Amino acid sequence: MRIYNTLTQKKEEFVPIEEGKIKMYVCGPTVYNYIHIGNARPAIIFDAFRRYMEYKGYEVNYVTNFTDVDDKIIKKSIEEGVSATEVSQRYIKEFRKDMEALNVKEATRHPKATEEIDGMIQMIESLIAKGHAYEKNGTVYYKTRSFEEYGKLSKKNIDDLEAGSRIAVSEEKEDPMDFVLWKPKKEGEPSWESPWGDGRPGWHIECSVMSAKYLGEEIDIHAGGEDLIFPHHENEIAQSEAASGKQFARYWMHNAFLNIDNKKMSKSEGNFFTVREICEQYPPQVLRFFMLNAHYRSPLNFSKELMEAAKNSLTRILTSVGQLEFLLNNDALKHTGLTAEEEALIKEADALHEKYKASMEDDLNTADAIAAIFELVKLANTNCSGDSSKEFVEYIYEKLILLCDILGIKAHQEEELLDTEIEKLIEERQAARKNRDFAKADEIRDQLLEKGIILEDTREGVRWKRK
Ligand code: AMP
Ligand code: ZN
Repeated sequence: MRIYNTLTQKKEEFVPIEEGKIKMYVCGPTVYNYIHIGNARPAIIFDAFRRYMEYKGYEVNYVTNFTDVDDKIIKKSIEEGVSATEVSQRYIKEFRKDMEALNVKEATRHPKATEEIDGMIQMIESLIAKGHAYEKNGTVYYKTRSFEEYGKLSKKNIDDLEAGSRIAVSEEKEDPMDFVLWKPKKEGEPSWESPWGDGRPGWHIECSVMSAKYLGEEIDIHAGGEDLIFPHHENEIAQSEAASGKQFARYWMHNAFLNIDNKKMSKSEGNFFTVREICEQYPPQVLRFFMLNAHYRSPLNFSKELMEAAKNSLTRILTSVGQLEFLLNNDALKHTGLTAEEEALIKEADALHEKYKASMEDDLNTADAIAAIFELVKLANTNCSGDSSKEFVEYIYEKLILLCDILGIKAHQEEELLDTEIEKLIEERQAARKNRDFAKADEIRDQLLEKGIILEDTREGVRWKRK
């Protein structure tokens, strides 16, 4: 597998630290709102990477964090008159729902910043002891110039940065380039006790700490959106490597932006769609497919036209798979053994599988991998029929399912519930509610939701619709 490494700015052959294992950390969301589809890009991309590496036989230890203490969370909690924890817990729950809808696998560990404060204090203490950090009036700063290699990831020169006018010069700092590791408590904000007084951590320290705690001081891959290269990842390297004296991460992977009208989609610009909004208009896997249809290092411009195109392309795959299932399930085919022609076609299908793998091996070129899937769809559509042998159709079907599955695309569609079945379940739910068995009632509602049926309780009774 060749991976483009932001650190070396080259595609490099991936060699894990420990054979057969991958230690991977992906920076997660700040949980103060529903995520937008730009935030979904790294989640989907690095999930596809993980799935492919698992398919290759690696054991992937995948850690991603929740930033659950931050100015934006605090601001929202003040606006709503609730605690910061209430805000973050609510959006962690919503984030998980979005990830499930997009078929993003649950991380091996998913730590929250607020539960790792002790580790952060320890790392800050060790940085102070080693002369890489200092305290001023309850604030601890990282002494950026103490880390000689600062700038090695973003290829920025510290002197140029310092000359840049956009960096605010704070009175307290010894140097304008120094960044905050710990800040003192402000009234009404969440805070923790520390050797420097009550306060809360800066943003960068959490990832250094969680990565070391759950994966060790040296990891294989660190990933996130390209906006994180500077300063976040640059600062993480400075913290982690100064603390451990070891190389923090061997490969740095960054996805390009999801844009809208060629501008980065972002909360602050207001030019965003939430995953929730889009999933009300399209089946969630259309959004996943849309993201995978482009190479992760190319900017991707979001538009309704492209989503429609993604929907149509995905439908072509699903229709083909559905047709193969129809042939297989209806006893239309006989076990007659493969014909010579079918054997040749199987070789063609295997070659397409190889082509797919070669694309994935080339820095996760999911767009080309999907092109290979389409060639296989074409092969299936032209050659699988009621006259084919069962062995042949099964082979093509399983290959198609596998190639989609590696990308996290569910090509096998659950059978749709019939109207009568839905109504029966709704009746059962009403009966459960009457008996005050709310757990059962909720279970039935969730079961229906999973099959794409949305219930609406109205004064006139229960109404339902298909998603
Ligand atoms: P945030 O919650 O802003 O820290 O973002 C969570 C993740 O989404 C990070 O990896 C960001 O780099 C990534 N991200 C944010 N906006 C975009 C965008 N428009 N396109 C692609 N990735 C993004
Ligand atoms: Zn991070």
